[in-house]
Amino acid sequence: MLLAPQGGRTARLRSSLRNSTALRNTEAPQKLPTPANEPSVADILRAEAACADIGQAGLIPTGAAAPKRQRRRARADLAVVPPEPSDRGIVTPRIAEFLDRVQPATPCLVVDLEVVEGNYRALAAALDPASLFYAVKANPAPEILRLLARNNGHFDVASRGEIDQCLEVGIRADRLSFGNPIKKQSDIAYAFGRGVRLFAFDSEGELEKLAVAAPGATVFCRLLVDGAGAEWPLSRKFGCSFAMAKALLLRARALGLDAAGVSFHIGSQQCDLSQWDKVLSQIAGLYGELAAAGLKPTLLNLGGGFPARYQKEVPSIGEYGRAVIAAVHRHFPEMPRLIAEPGRGLVGEAGVIESEVVLVSVKDAADPQRWVYLDIGKFSGLAETMEEAIKYRLKTPHDGGPTGPVILAGPSCDSADILYEKANYELPLALKPGDKIRILACGAYTTTYSSVGFNGFAPLKAYCI
Ligand SMILES: *Cc1c(COP(=O)(O)O)cnc(C)c1O
Repeated sequence: MLLAPQGGRTARLRSSLRNSTALRNTEAPQKLPTPANEPSVADILRAEAACADIGQAGLIPTGAAAPKRQRRRARADLAVVPPEPSDRGIVTPRIAEFLDRVQPATPCLVVDLEVVEGNYRALAAALDPASLFYAVKANPAPEILRLLARNNGHFDVASRGEIDQCLEVGIRADRLSFGNPIKKQSDIAYAFGRGVRLFAFDSEGELEKLAVAAPGATVFCRLLVDGAGAEWPLSRKFGCSFAMAKALLLRARALGLDAAGVSFHIGSQQCDLSQWDKVLSQIAGLYGELAAAGLKPTLLNLGGGFPARYQKEVPSIGEYGRAVIAAVHRHFPEMPRLIAEPGRGLVGEAGVIESEVVLVSVKDAADPQRWVYLDIGKFSGLAETMEEAIKYRLKTPHDGGPTGPVILAGPSCDSADILYEKANYELPLALKPGDKIRILACGAYTTTYSSVGFNGFAPLKAYCI
């Protein structure tokens, strides 16, 4: 059920995303068309900006019975891919059957591995010739790692723990990329000792550690890009300027490392394909400068950013990947070896969280504002609701009935544990304690974000089927 962002109260969240572009989608009042209307010029422009809103929340289709959406006009420009009507990020029949049959304790995540595999194959085909390095932090379930390994996958790991998780399921170390530019020297040595040969860096201090602990390894420099347009930006903390990257890559070579190229992260849940074009053209310039300085880059790491479908419709994986590869071709007549690191785009839509309504209440008899408390919150898996950045779709047993506005909150005794209060969620008036609510497209960044047991609430349990 859902909701057009319309401003509202400013949440005071202890979020690392404060002041970030994640707020872009919640700041301004936005009037959304109903699906029955002809699109206005503003609608078309919005659609062309890539991630079109498709209508008011309650009307967002979650299945086959969805109203037929208007076709959006597509520009010839490949940087803009119109969204296709889709049933992505739904409760798949396999997940529905599992939940009905097993009736697991809630909250829990159920991941449909067939969806993960389909996504992987679609993205691998669309991003050909790039090798896909799955970003393990999105969901490190061993079933997912094994499935992707069977499909010739590679893996982007950020820590010793993630390296071990991969090795334990039989993934070879030469399929791993240690993509975190901030590593302890002892962890670099551990990775190198286990056979990892591909490492990220974004500073001179990290290069010096790599030269000592991973001599001769292949290294790439993470670039600072602003992540504009992404709903979950990964900017600021990682990467260095283009000028610094050039100097560092030359230094890497002087230190005896294989200075292979650069990486960047365009911002997670990035729906604005023009961002890719912008960054890729800047990188092409950098590669030209490096070649002129006698260092010819051989590798280009495209990072992640491929979106999952939450409230907004997003381009299909195939369309999105093809547009990215087309942008690479535009700027790199001579294509370096390509790597991509999808996380969310592979597993996000494959998972559904089953949760239960704990309480529906109001704060005063004169205050109509309903509060709905779920048995899952920010600390038990829904951390990406920070700043209300990721807006999940919800399914309830009363869908179709009359709805009213709600503030949605988690079960813990921390007043920051509010999921949505500005995003104008609406839920059925009939909703009551004990009702099951299904939170859609929760396969990425949920289990890994759940605390080990804050306030005694158990970490999010996951089933991969
Ligand atoms: C998290 C992460 C990814 C995955 O990003 P998505 O937006 O989920 O695709 C890829 N690369 C690196 C280095 C990351 O940290």
